[in-house]
Amino acid sequence: MIEKVLIANRGEIALRIHRACHEMGIKTVAVHSTADVDAMHVRLADETVCIGPAASVDSYLNIPAIISAAEITGADAIHPGYGFLSENAHFADIVAEHGISFIGPTGDHIRQMGDKITAKRTVKELGIPVVPGSEGGITDDETARKVCEEIGYPVIIKASAGGGGRGMQIVKNADDLSVQLSTCRREAKVSFGDDAVYIEKFLTTPRHIEFQIIGDSHGNCIHLGERDCSLQRRHQKVLEEAPSPVIDEETRERMGGIVAKAMADFGYCGAGTIEFLYENGEFYFIEMNTRVQVEHPVTEMITGIDIVREQIRVAAGEELSYTQDMVRFFGHAIECRINAEHPFNFMPSPGTVTQYHPPGGLNVRCDSAVYTGYKIPPHYDSMVAKLIVSGYTREGCLLRLRRSLNEFVIEGVTTTIPLHQALMENEDFLAGDYDIHWLEKFLAEKNA
Ligand code: ADP
Repeated sequence: MIEKVLIANRGEIALRIHRACHEMGIKTVAVHSTADVDAMHVRLADETVCIGPAASVDSYLNIPAIISAAEITGADAIHPGYGFLSENAHFADIVAEHGISFIGPTGDHIRQMGDKITAKRTVKELGIPVVPGSEGGITDDETARKVCEEIGYPVIIKASAGGGGRGMQIVKNADDLSVQLSTCRREAKVSFGDDAVYIEKFLTTPRHIEFQIIGDSHGNCIHLGERDCSLQRRHQKVLEEAPSPVIDEETRERMGGIVAKAMADFGYCGAGTIEFLYENGEFYFIEMNTRVQVEHPVTEMITGIDIVREQIRVAAGEELSYTQDMVRFFGHAIECRINAEHPFNFMPSPGTVTQYHPPGGLNVRCDSAVYTGYKIPPHYDSMVAKLIVSGYTREGCLLRLRRSLNEFVIEGVTTTIPLHQALMENEDFLAGDYDIHWLEKFLAEKNA
């Protein structure tokens, strides 16, 4: 069994991992940059190592420094969290080569899912439905034209190496195709060092529905249902809920069964998320994330299953603690991502938190690394807290969420709490009636 975990991350996710470790009797090592000396993850850990200056490339992305820290402290496993090195196949390989357990899938599995063309081909072969489009990469106008005529406009050109909502071009008609294809390839080369692009049908009113899965090294893989992450701004998630207001039990079991079986056949070990666009009752795979996600707590709230604990168990070679039959869904959960930004135009607002008082009460969870007097460094992500609330019904959850948002005190910096409060008063949101473009329209009206 694992005895000491080095947490190669910061902020709320570093705390989340630390908590799971301590509940399992595992010691923790925090690594940190010079800008994070006063950070909560550093205060809580059993041991700490400074791995470099503020810039992420020199610290949280610095592989030699992280490996040295693990060796010096005798950590027998590394948890990468999300972001930073979590989906870096090379890092996973190096960790394993040093005889340290990587708490995540193998480097090969990360690699296969990290390249979007390979990922799409792989999951299609495993029986997962994908968005109609080109088979593999597109390099010439002629093939592109044929594919587009077959699937019909609008289409979306995507960089195989793209990520974070970048490297995509929507093409409305045949006249623009050739120019946009060369633009997309050029940009992909500059941004990602790889000009491979592919084409797929552009869906006009889809929802973003993703399935949480977790597999072990004994051939087992279970699904923990779906999350609806359709509320997005610039392809970034703002609020997530589970279950989705538009997915019924029969659909959940059918799709969950397909993804869990596919990932068992793939031999996947670790937590992962299969992301789909969902339109007119059909699912279309867009990508797989081979790590724990920001929004994993909504699934934990409706299943009672500690996802990080299971990640650690399967990385240690143990079997999953649950079979599919043991997974039960109860109630409804919603997560609000609270950022230190202007609530409607998202201008960053770093600074010192002069007062911090999170809400409490039944079924209210607040994951955050902030405390009164904490100075938010400008170098990293702007998320300061995740508020996750559950209820017996969606209505009950919404009432509790509204009450919790009203109780939340974060002073000294501007936060996105007012955006979430505005959503709680919106009829479409309250009715669960929204697609992936809805929030952008809502914000455009607010900013008008
Ligand atoms: P990234 O890796 O950059 O996050 P994804 O492939 O996950 O890229 O797509 C990000 C977002 O882009 C999706 O959540 C969706 O909003 C939009 N998108 C991607 N593919 C399509 C498509 N075929 N049709 C419509 N929107 C799409």
